[in-house]
Amino acid sequence: MRIQVDLDLCQGHAVCQDEAPDIFDVPKHGKVELQRTDPGADAEAVRNAVRYCPTQALSIVDDDQ
Ligand code: SF4
Repeated sequence: MRIQVDLDLCQGHAVCQDEAPDIFDVPKHGKVELQRTDPGADAEAVRNAVRYCPTQALSIVDDDQ
């Protein structure tokens, strides 16, 4: 399982950072930066970030499929 970001869509709303601060880092006036791509123990928080990102810039990819 891996997190993917479409930076063309990201508008820096930082909703993802609120949901999963250990994974997503959003600088002021910038775009999201991933601390790591493996959600690990934060999978549920990452799922919420994917769900609530207002521009749908986030997705989870299952490498096993
Ligand atoms: S919530 Fe979505 S648009 Fe906002 S910073 Fe995160 S990825 Fe970018």
